[in-house]
Amino acid sequence: MCGIVGYIGKGQAYPVLINGLNRLEYRGYDSAGVAMIPEKGTLNIYKAAGKVKQLEDSVKNCNIEGHVGIAHTRWATHGAPNKENAHPHCSMSGRLALVHNGIIENYGVLKDKLTEKGYVFSSTTDTEVLVQLIDYIYGAGDMSLVAAVQLALKEVIGAYAIAVIDRDNPDMIVAARKSSPLVIGMAEDGLYLASDATPIVEYTNKVIYLDDEEVACLNMDGTYRIVDLDNADCCHEAQTVAVNIGQLQKGGFPHFMIKEIFDQPECLADCMRGRVLKDMNKIVVSAVIENRDVLLNARRFIIVACGTSWHAGLIGKQLIEDFCRIPVEVEYASEFRYRNPVINEGDVVMAVSQSGETADTLAAIEMAKEKGAFIYGVCNVVGSSIARAADAGSYIHVGPEIGVASTKAFTGQVTVLTMIAMALAKEMGRADDGFMAKVIDELLSLPEKIKEVLAFDEYIKDIARIFTYVHNFIYLGRGYAFPVALEGALKLKEISYIHAEGYPAAEMKHGPIALIDSNMPVVVIATKTHLYDKVVSNVQEIKSRGGRILAVVTKGDTVIKNMADFCIEIPETMECMEPVVASIPLQLLAYHVAANKGLDVDRPRNLAKSVTVE
Ligand code: GLU
Repeated sequence: MCGIVGYIGKGQAYPVLINGLNRLEYRGYDSAGVAMIPEKGTLNIYKAAGKVKQLEDSVKNCNIEGHVGIAHTRWATHGAPNKENAHPHCSMSGRLALVHNGIIENYGVLKDKLTEKGYVFSSTTDTEVLVQLIDYIYGAGDMSLVAAVQLALKEVIGAYAIAVIDRDNPDMIVAARKSSPLVIGMAEDGLYLASDATPIVEYTNKVIYLDDEEVACLNMDGTYRIVDLDNADCCHEAQTVAVNIGQLQKGGFPHFMIKEIFDQPECLADCMRGRVLKDMNKIVVSAVIENRDVLLNARRFIIVACGTSWHAGLIGKQLIEDFCRIPVEVEYASEFRYRNPVINEGDVVMAVSQSGETADTLAAIEMAKEKGAFIYGVCNVVGSSIARAADAGSYIHVGPEIGVASTKAFTGQVTVLTMIAMALAKEMGRADDGFMAKVIDELLSLPEKIKEVLAFDEYIKDIARIFTYVHNFIYLGRGYAFPVALEGALKLKEISYIHAEGYPAAEMKHGPIALIDSNMPVVVIATKTHLYDKVVSNVQEIKSRGGRILAVVTKGDTVIKNMADFCIEIPETMECMEPVVASIPLQLLAYHVAANKGLDVDRPRNLAKSVTVE
């Protein structure tokens, strides 16, 4: 995981680097570090365990001069999250500094080889091996840093995005990538480098996304060259990114997560803009139109995803099966990639990932591609690796999500999956005009319905106060609400560190019911669906065992209201769209419980925003 930033140009590097690290901190926050060259022959490296703030505090009396520099915020994969293992790593000669995102899988072999040559290591990371290897090759012959990096990378097995600077050659940064993202920004005052565009958009909207096994050399005079590992030139057209800086800030909320929860009405409107067309009574998903035949002839869909995106995938399955009658399987990408799954030509593999960089999902689609499947990506981050690896795809367009616990990306993914299912159903002749009109009205009313639920924020805050110090929670739902229960439980676990389990409501009697006593809060999604009466019975079962019931019900419900300890009313919508509305109170509940506990809601322990390592 981790975030990389680099700058070379007329300005001072340090402010750009720190600013960038703060923007990328969602990618990891085990440690942070910077390296700058104030003058030829001097390399200053500063590191601190913990967050970027700790680094800023620790450099107060240091020389932070330099027009060239690289920086890193780490999410440890190899070696403890301490100062010694923080990046940038320096070569033993003291000449090179390197930052790395990814994993060097054969670092053990390389380390043994370098140790034999006399190299001594000062960290326990895989990354340090790479800087020593480059140093070894660089020192051994008369060659450029680019050539040394190319040769070193040919020996490396694994994933990397790297940036290297040379104390004795302060006019360049050499960067490279394989399976980990890296973006170059071109501005008047110099060249920028980062793991994604968020640290760059403040300075320029002209960017290039490096491709796998490409090496870029960024020069002080603003020129750059991109080559492959064999030094052949790689052509890239600069792209224009449109990211609103306001979206990157908290906008008056105490945490990004609560801001992002409240942003959902607007984000979903953005997500549907230009796609849900009331005037034409149409849902236009361009990838569905462009790949109509492939999708309509698909023998089955396989949705691969991790975490929250997997929950969105479970909802996608029900949507596509209900409305298109195409069989859908939903797989954890990390399991799928290491099994020997049956994939045939004619299968459509759908990869759902907020960041578009999720390592397991990326590997899963690469495997599926080799076996002849058609790959459809559903991502948020434009230009991300999954988006580029897919044959077709739909962005969710909800803007950058900074809070580690996903909220708006989840509802965005579900909305996109709904649009895809409905657009496909229409193409298949399974949705008549009347049905489409209803679907379109319901979709377009989602932002207003979410606003209605957000109005319960204060009430949910009060409920959260009561449950702040419990140790366990159960979340129950059925049908479309079952993945909502899973997602609600995951949200609570992620940010409040309270154990929570999501369960299909009827399965409860096969085990979890044994856990229920008067200390056990049970969150039940008990809205007016075709399973309502069944859920009422499930609620009754909990009630008779003394459980404390917090129910999410349809506005106007009276039956559950008489049984539950707390009720949150949500407006009625089509059953298949309820996950979007019913998720909101569960997001708010998780947020307020964690905020009451004084926890670092946006950066929960042990987690990182985009999981770019397996
Ligand atoms: N493998 C490197 C380390 O543990 C980089 C990890 C990352 O990409 O976050 O330091």
